Amino acid sequence: MVLSAINIVWMRRDLRLHDHAALYHALQAQGSVQPVFIFDTEILAHFPHRNDRRLSFIVSALCDIDRELQKRGGRLLVLHGNAKEIIPTLAQALGVGNIYAAEDYEPEAMKRDAAVAAQLEGTAKITFVKDQVIFSPKEILLESGAAYKVFTPYSNNWRSRITPLSSMPYEYNDKGRYAAFDGVMQRIQACGLQYIDLSAGPEAALEAVEYDYNKDTLWPTQGAVARLQEFISEKSKNYEFSRDAMAVHGTSRLSPYLRFGLVSVRECVHRAMEAGAIKWLTELIWREFYAMTLFHVPESAHVEWNPKYRGRLDWSHNEGHLAAWQQGKTGYPVVDAAMRQLLTEGWMHNRARMIVASFLTKHLRISWTKGEEHFAQYLMDYDMASNVGGWQWAASTGTDAQPYFRVFNPSLQSEKFDPKGEYIRRYVPELQRAPADTLHAPWKHPLLMNYYPPIVDHATARDQALAMFKKLA
Ligand SMILES: Cc1cc2nc3c(=O)[nH]c(=O)nc-3n(C[C@H](O)[C@H](O)[C@H](O)COP(=O)(O)OP(=O)(O)OC[C@H]3O[C@@H](n4cnc5c(N)ncnc54)[C@H](O)[C@@H]3O)c2cc1C
Repeated sequence: MVLSAINIVWMRRDLRLHDHAALYHALQAQGSVQPVFIFDTEILAHFPHRNDRRLSFIVSALCDIDRELQKRGGRLLVLHGNAKEIIPTLAQALGVGNIYAAEDYEPEAMKRDAAVAAQLEGTAKITFVKDQVIFSPKEILLESGAAYKVFTPYSNNWRSRITPLSSMPYEYNDKGRYAAFDGVMQRIQACGLQYIDLSAGPEAALEAVEYDYNKDTLWPTQGAVARLQEFISEKSKNYEFSRDAMAVHGTSRLSPYLRFGLVSVRECVHRAMEAGAIKWLTELIWREFYAMTLFHVPESAHVEWNPKYRGRLDWSHNEGHLAAWQQGKTGYPVVDAAMRQLLTEGWMHNRARMIVASFLTKHLRISWTKGEEHFAQYLMDYDMASNVGGWQWAASTGTDAQPYFRVFNPSLQSEKFDPKGEYIRRYVPELQRAPADTLHAPWKHPLLMNYYPPIVDHATARDQALAMFKKLA
């Protein structure tokens, strides 16, 4: 079968069909469009659990896209293997001249994209377009051209540069512009690429890449845009006041959708500006600040961003403490609730993330890298830049981090941000019936003596943390 000129749209962190930068650019070119997603074996190697809920989320989003594409005359092509080999093989098999993909700023992703571009040289052109941020890490810099180290001036510069146009969602008419899928499939079968058939359903699709599918009612893939609209119209006004209350859904809970691109950052920013949701906009700017930081200091994914501390902090290697923290058995109910929320929901409230990160790095003096790795295994919204940024902020080793002498007192934090203990009770069934005033420090109450005893004493742990940092002051 003769195929007319095809342009590939390689979907990665942009799992949607609306306001899609790569799709928009592919539609500007002549010829038809074939959207492609690859279950990349190099990425899957970082997903050791067969029932990883992120893979269920991804495959469910791919099925949604495929169904929608069928209405528009196309199909989604899903392949399994090493993306660095697949893209050049695919381009050759389909006789493709142009490939479009969104820019990715994570260190490994940039290496992959550079390798793909090099392999394609002379046969096809790959164009990377900005999609997951409003301003790329190269766009908001100090006058000297160096990266910002402090958030507020970065944020001021960001805000001064934003115009209605820079957050304007992409619009296009893609009906009838997709490649004839039968012809595409003939070529795929002939060249031996491993194709995943979405028509057989999400279970079979994940089974083919050796993972288990679990339908997730907590994080449905449909209705992401409606979630954004609902947050903007109903919650954004109160966000400044309710964002720290751990028991209520006062934040947008859009992070998994932003992470995998089921909503675009342009529509988030656009709506935030329309609604005057200034505080919420600031959080979206933090996301770009951390992307910029990791881009300019890629080694900060693994070592302390602050050269003063790099590789020099005397971290503890207490495996028992680490396990108690990971399982939510530290004896500090707010820490335990948060860690169990992570295990059961694949998500954690931002205030809780700050509390548990402070606890691991300051109370237990265990390196932030251990916490970063644990979050990377379980967070639905895991994003290397934001996670490393958040961890290094809490550990006082990062850019614009909190000062080392700020050590959260977990009991005071839960008294303040979960006064009635609703958050604690939701995730710690052992404390289900405990009176609210006993929940923040159960070891003081004879009624609750059966609860896990605190693995460290707050005051002693605080002194030890300060001593660890002071040595390098
Ligand atoms: C130790 C630690 C680890 C973290 N790891 C991640 C991570 O892996 N992925 C992730 O998306 N966020 C991470 N965060 C930031 C923040 O906790 C989450 O983005 C937020 O809790 C997501 O909930 P939400 O969508 O309701 O956020 P909202 O409050 O509604 O904010 C809207 C969006 O802004 C972005 N955002 C909000 N706060 C931050 C922040 N502090 N830094 C960067 N972006 C932010 C997110 O994309 C979020 O969805 C981490 C924070 C800490 C302290």
